[in-house]
Amino acid sequence: MSSVLSTAPTGLAALPPGARQLLRDSCLIDGRWQAALDGRTFAVDDPATGATIGRVPLMGAAEADAAVAAAGRAQQLWARRTAKDRAAVLDRWAAALRERRADLAAILTLEQGKPLAEASAEIEYAASFLTFFAAEAPRITGEIIPGHRPDARIMVLRQAAGVAACITPWNFPAAMVTRKAAPALAAGCTVVLKPAEQTPLTALAVAALGELSGLPAGTLNVITGDAPAIGRVWCDHPAVRVLSFTGSTEVGKLLAERGARTVKRLSLELGGNAAFLVFADADLDAAVEGAVLSKFRHSGQTCVCTNRFLVEDSVAEEFTARFAERIATLRVGNGFHEGTDVGPLIDDDAVAKVTGHLSDAVGRGAALLAGGETEPGSRFVTPALVGGVTADMRVMTEETFGPLAAVARFGSEQEALALANNTRSGLAGYLWTRDLARSWRVSEGLEVGMVGVNTGFLSVETAPFGGVKESGLGREGSRHGIEEFLDLKYLCLGGIG
Ligand code: ADP
Repeated sequence: MSSVLSTAPTGLAALPPGARQLLRDSCLIDGRWQAALDGRTFAVDDPATGATIGRVPLMGAAEADAAVAAAGRAQQLWARRTAKDRAAVLDRWAAALRERRADLAAILTLEQGKPLAEASAEIEYAASFLTFFAAEAPRITGEIIPGHRPDARIMVLRQAAGVAACITPWNFPAAMVTRKAAPALAAGCTVVLKPAEQTPLTALAVAALGELSGLPAGTLNVITGDAPAIGRVWCDHPAVRVLSFTGSTEVGKLLAERGARTVKRLSLELGGNAAFLVFADADLDAAVEGAVLSKFRHSGQTCVCTNRFLVEDSVAEEFTARFAERIATLRVGNGFHEGTDVGPLIDDDAVAKVTGHLSDAVGRGAALLAGGETEPGSRFVTPALVGGVTADMRVMTEETFGPLAAVARFGSEQEALALANNTRSGLAGYLWTRDLARSWRVSEGLEVGMVGVNTGFLSVETAPFGGVKESGLGREGSRHGIEEFLDLKYLCLGGIG
């Protein structure tokens, strides 16, 4: 198995001194860094080596409840501050993230595995949500509607919804924290947040910088621990008004069901099964570059990563051959090693899923054209390509979430759309064509929340991120992202005029 040779330090030794200062082994509740009530902790691993790199509190229902109580106490005071005041705190937090970018990126790579350059890009992406929503805070305006009687006027306020509970995934340990917390705090909500158990250190470091930037006690509470126990408390607690979750469709559905008992507002970013359509008139070189970006960025572990490559018959062979050549140039290695393109997968289950999808496809007649190698106990899998894929294979029906590209063919635009839409997910889709009319038709026909036309990259703080069908509810980022945390209140004024 190929891997980048380097003598660069890894593990805790790879952390710059500044990064060590940002490591936390306790959680933030009500402005105080605290251990679990019963003192229990759990280990955090470096996915590249499997070595333990730290321990964080194993909190549960009691701490989840205490966090909501703190957020509830802080909320009115925070919401009553001027929008400009709230924005100033978020701006300082963004500046702190940018100033400590190298330190945060190192923590992120250490616990998550992605190449350091990608981790560094994620820290900037995380800061961008703070900057964007700081600017959005003073734009939370209302409406005046002509009265239904001569002496009446109707006014609409947009007010903070209350306490927002946020549950974040391991694939973007920094950016998913700010993508939720920034609009919530800008709106005047307070936050209780639980990061994924695989990547708590980045979230705690980001929270520590938020505290240093002037977030008042209780406005941002971050706890780590028993996900189902914490999730149950936050779903059931009447003071939690918004539940914002990014993760698997399975857990999203559980939270939606449980949250319905207290009629929570839900913002759900769930799994995808993105199709990448290459038409015969596409710029194939650009399409191959887009394919590499959308499939192998972060080892294929993003919810907008392409899962299914669908290529028009007449160019399928050429596209696949060029894609295979390009894949062979990708270097697999530790995220701290310079030149690494593809880091480790997050855990053993992730490796098992990729190898399971690969053997299922090959077992049903697909051709293995590149990669797919791994070693027992290793979380590294070389970027893989399979051709001759058919609709019944697991690579087509399930989200692989790893570095395995599967190519199937289509004969017509209608067939391409039918194949692409043959899934209960609807997060992202991509298409490559030089035909303007087709780019509109296909974009409009794809049952997804986001479409990349001649691009393999979609994630930016200024655009609404989210899905349709079973990929979720609501949008994050853009001016729409703040709506998840605002309630409309209408005032009917009588006796006027
Ligand atoms: P993945 O399979 O990608 O790890 P999950 O949906 O399991 O995705 O995890 C996403 C987030 O949801 C993580 O923070 C995880 O701890 C949390 N989580 C997992 N199960 C539950 C649950 N039953 N209730 C609340 N949160 C959960």
